[in-house]
Amino acid sequence: MMNDQLEKHYVIRVGWLRASVLGANDGLLSTTSIVIGVAAADPSRNAIILAALAGMIAGAMSMAAGEYVSVSSQADTETSDLEREKRELAEIPEIELQELAKIYEKRGVSKETALQVATELTAHDALAAHAHDELGINEITQAKPFLASVASFFSFLAGALLPMILAIVAPEKEMVYYQYGFSIIFLMILGAISAKIGGSSIKNSVLRICFWGTVAMVITALVGHFFGSVN
Ligand SMILES: [Zn+2]
Repeated sequence: MMNDQLEKHYVIRVGWLRASVLGANDGLLSTTSIVIGVAAADPSRNAIILAALAGMIAGAMSMAAGEYVSVSSQADTETSDLEREKRELAEIPEIELQELAKIYEKRGVSKETALQVATELTAHDALAAHAHDELGINEITQAKPFLASVASFFSFLAGALLPMILAIVAPEKEMVYYQYGFSIIFLMILGAISAKIGGSSIKNSVLRICFWGTVAMVITALVGHFFGSVN
C-alpha cells in the first residue's frame, strides 16, 4: 500500500518534471534564437531587450494556449467516453460485466477469478473499474488543462529568463556570442536532466540538444545578419 502510493506520486512527479524541462528547453532555445537573430541585425541594446521580452511573453502565452487547447480536447474526449460508459453500464450491465471480466482474463487471470474480480469491482464502483481498466483513464493520466497550461507557461518563462537577463547585462557587441555560449551550457544541463528523468542516455541527449540548438541559433543569426546588412 505504502509503496504503491510512493510509486504513484513518483510517476505523477516525473510526468510533470519532464514536461517542465521540455517547456524550459523551448523557452530557452526559441527566445535565444530570436535575440541572436535581432542582435545579428541590429546590436542596439533596446532592440535586443525588446526582442527578448516579446519572444519571452509571446512564446509563454502561445505554449500555455496550445497546451490548454490540446489538453482540453483530451479532457473532452475523456468526459464523453465516461458519459457513454455510464450509459452502457445502465443499459447493458450484464454485457459490461462480461467485457470487464474479459479484460482481466486477457491479463492472464483464470475465467472464474476474472468474473469474480469483475463482479466485486462492479459492485464496489462499476464506472471507476471500467474507466480504469477499459478506458485507461486514471488520476495519473487524467487531463488537467488549466494545470498543464500554467505549468507550460511558467516553464517556458523560466527557460526564456536566461536570454532576457543576458540581453540586459551582456556587452552589446558580443551579444550573439554570449547568448549562444550561455544557452548551450544551459541546454546541456536541461538535456542531462531530462535524460536522467527519462532514464535515457545523457550523452546522446546532450549531443542531440547541442546539435539542434546550434542549428537553430546559427540559421537565425544568418537570417538576422543578412537582413541587417541589406537595410
Ligand atoms: Zn465498459
